[in-house]
Amino acid sequence: MSAIDNVEGPVLRPGDDGFDDELSGYQLAHPHRPDLVVGVTSAADVVAAVRYAADHGLPLAVQTSGHGREVPLAGGVLISTRRMDGVRVDPAARVVRVEAGTRWAQVVAAAAEHGLAPPSGSAPGVGVVGYTLGGGIGVLARELGWASDRVRSVELAMPVGIRHVTAGSDPEVFRTLRGAGTPPGTAVTAMEIELAPVERIHGGALSVAQEHVPALLAAYRDWTADLPEFLTSSIGALPYPDLPMVPAHLRGRYVAQVRIASTGSAAETQRLVAPLRAAVPTTGALAELPYAQAATIFAEPDQPHPYTGTNTMLREFDPAVAAAALEITGPGAPVMCVLGLRHLGGALARPPAVPDAVAHRDAPYLLSVLSLVDGTDVPGRLHRELMDAVAPWSLGPTPNFRFGEEAAREWAR
Ligand SMILES: Cc1cc2nc3c(=O)[nH]c(=O)nc-3n(C[C@H](O)[C@H](O)[C@H](O)COP(=O)(O)OP(=O)(O)OC[C@H]3O[C@@H](n4cnc5c(N)ncnc54)[C@H](O)[C@@H]3O)c2cc1C
Repeated sequence: MSAIDNVEGPVLRPGDDGFDDELSGYQLAHPHRPDLVVGVTSAADVVAAVRYAADHGLPLAVQTSGHGREVPLAGGVLISTRRMDGVRVDPAARVVRVEAGTRWAQVVAAAAEHGLAPPSGSAPGVGVVGYTLGGGIGVLARELGWASDRVRSVELAMPVGIRHVTAGSDPEVFRTLRGAGTPPGTAVTAMEIELAPVERIHGGALSVAQEHVPALLAAYRDWTADLPEFLTSSIGALPYPDLPMVPAHLRGRYVAQVRIASTGSAAETQRLVAPLRAAVPTTGALAELPYAQAATIFAEPDQPHPYTGTNTMLREFDPAVAAAALEITGPGAPVMCVLGLRHLGGALARPPAVPDAVAHRDAPYLLSVLSLVDGTDVPGRLHRELMDAVAPWSLGPTPNFRFGEEAAREWAR
């Protein structure tokens, strides 16, 4: 393979110092195995990498945080964006410009200085661009809509150079980039995203013990039927490991957490949550917190680990869906399964001002499941079994909550 010209960042091949570090990320399962990794430092570096892949007919992939790696690269060129993490907030226009490798934590902090909030999600370490290319369901999703809906412009590296893509310049490419990823052989170098005037929220996680989880799922269905869009909630249920780093009230138990984030007043939020708390015993409390701490409501693990997972958007949360989820991937499952149920609707369901590629936007719920990779085909098999069982209510997946399915299928063969 010939040399790659005019790149300022490191260009590494297998065996070079730093090659393995450059490939590392949050997802430890099925890492990329490129022939060449380019640690880009500028848009020009990204164009050089994209052009090199095109000139040599090589497959191309991009990695920021490694949270979402789905299909690992075998050979070819990997663009590693972690050095491109510039963030610039324009408070008057309420817009942030982020470079390709920026993570949500940086944007949340920069926007908070101006009393603004981005459409960020549950994990501060997730990359802004990867999340937004796949739609993006945030902590306040029902109020702020899909992250993709809020994109103003995208800078796209192509073999011929950078294209500043807007609704006016390239309507079809602009539509695709917002919900359906990048065209093959290209990479995003920067994005402009609208911010919202949100400084403080009311929220928290309410815990529900295993014996009450079936009642919680039934109550959640009724409760979410009629909520204002300033309240976004979701459920995460899992068997917490019996390990010292797990909080004492969760350690070694199957617990569901109802995660709530609201821009309503404390009194209004408490009033809205009261019927759910009356229906099932919960522990934990809601509190006022700065948006900059919103991700603490989810308390996602920040340590890298190997996982696989899938999802489907639901046309309704039928009691049969709840029953199948608990039966197949609940407390009795042969491997640890993290069940997720996000309440959608509100601003997520409204068409954006400029059309984008977000699919199934009118789905009222998102069902997801995630397991640790254990070298067997059990997690993949259980996930498929669940997806088959809920197929009558499924609309199809959303890109962001698919993790390593390709690898799971390989293990099953
Ligand atoms: C713990 C956890 C919590 C999460 N929470 C949420 C949530 O609340 N809401 C939500 O919507 N999603 C959530 N996700 C899903 C997440 O948004 C996706 O996995 C997303 O793809 C991660 O992007 P990344 O850049 O961080 O990851 P990476 O694995 O680095 O990248 C993922 C993919 O994004 C694409 N990509 C990234 N950067 C570029 C670029 N510059 N140009 C072109 N393509 C690029 C590539 O296809 C790449 O394969 C979560 C995931 C995890 C693991």
